Amino acid sequence: MEKTVKPQGVLLVVSGPSGAGKGTICQLLRDKLPDLGYSVSVTTRQPRVGEVDGVNYFFKTVEQVKEMIAADELLEYAEVYGNYYGTPRQYVMDLLNAGKDVLLEIDIQGALQIKQRFPEGVFVFIVPPSLDELSARIYKRGTDSEDVIKRRMASAASELTYAAEYDYIIVNDIVEKAANKILTIMDAERYRVARTYFIIDKICKNKKNADKE
Ligand code: 5GP
Repeated sequence: MEKTVKPQGVLLVVSGPSGAGKGTICQLLRDKLPDLGYSVSVTTRQPRVGEVDGVNYFFKTVEQVKEMIAADELLEYAEVYGNYYGTPRQYVMDLLNAGKDVLLEIDIQGALQIKQRFPEGVFVFIVPPSLDELSARIYKRGTDSEDVIKRRMASAASELTYAAEYDYIIVNDIVEKAANKILTIMDAERYRVARTYFIIDKICKNKKNADKE
């Protein structure tokens, strides 16, 4: 990680197998950190009941997403269960450059792409307490067809091994506790030398000015 000369926001990437509860944790994090920037993704999947365009996702056609990919307007994108999902680049970069922290709640393929471009991001992997619990949660959620649930469960065990690519593993047993652990991580990350080195520059500049006076 290079030393920064100006304050830059932290890019917090939260992912994990579907059903691990990352959506609920991320919602709680956003409630607890009102200043946390949140990137609304584009997707080609159909809106679910109650979902609003521009709030939950920007709902797009496959052609529109392909155009965005061709124009390099997505920071990352992935095909998840037959649909495209992607993170609009400009919005995220503007927030980070303005010193704001940004949360991305994305799948594992997307997180690994971001890691290549942004190794300085903070990569958090959410896991369920057990695979039985994961299955119970996906069924309880009731938003997916039997076919999709089967596909999700089949990939969950192998997806867990990607945890090795992340910085932190958080077991989602109790949502509130899991969210608080991420807050602790964010607190510590803000003090990393690579993010705070500008303070040293500032102190030295002040000293030079004082010496001149
Ligand atoms: P859902 O259809 O349930 O809203 O999301 C399906 C999966 O796509 C979830 O794992 C979610 O985190 C992921 N996802 C949502 N937005 C993005 C995105 O912008 N990029 C990637 N790579 N995955 C995303």
